Amino acid sequence: MTKGILLVISAPSGGGKTTLASGLLEKVPPLSYSVSVTTRSPRAGEKEGVDYYYVTEEEFKKKKDAGELLEYAFVHGFWYGTPRDFIEEKLHAGEDVLLDIDVQGGSQIKKNSPEAVLVFIIPPSMEALEQRLRRRQKDDETTIQRRLKRAKQEMEESSNYDYLILNDKIDQALDRLYSIYGAEKLRMGRARSKILAVLNESKKELKNG
Ligand code: 5GP
Repeated sequence: MTKGILLVISAPSGGGKTTLASGLLEKVPPLSYSVSVTTRSPRAGEKEGVDYYYVTEEEFKKKKDAGELLEYAFVHGFWYGTPRDFIEEKLHAGEDVLLDIDVQGGSQIKKNSPEAVLVFIIPPSMEALEQRLRRRQKDDETTIQRRLKRAKQEMEESSNYDYLILNDKIDQALDRLYSIYGAEKLRMGRARSKILAVLNESKKELKNG
């Protein structure tokens, strides 16, 4: 059985990552989304178990100490973590999983699972990022400034990522993400079982013929 792909996407806040993640999930229905655990409160329209599992700091610490999180990080004043069981179940079943996490989490994943595929998404410019953050009207001025500062740090910390997508036009960026996923599916290491199947098939034909 081939192991599934762990596809990690990260981007500065406002970088268009959530739109790209939803776009890829729509294009590739068998791809599963890893729902993270967080200590932040739900935003308007967000749903428990769909966007996040919302927990208290105490509950988060319990999960972390029990080793239930594959990675975790403190981002913008809250804790976020990836539930280990879901990922392991999917990967062992040969299914692919998409993670939308920050660069600290991405680096932890790469360290423990070097075969994971890490994609970093950047805005065309810091001005464009600032405009996007303002346009979505989710954050106050202090938060916007904090997110912009963090964005610069994240871009510097993204050097261990495998791929970079410049998110200028969303359709193009989605095509690029889809191409990366497609190419990773065809990697020799991952496609080994297909070669064996073809070889077995030709052996059978030789015997029969
Ligand atoms: P937001 O609160 O805006 O949904 O997410 C804030 C940041 O936390 C985003 O960069 C998002 O990718 C990141 N994030 C979400 N879930 C996780 C997680 O499980 N682990 C880590 N390390 N980061 C996460």
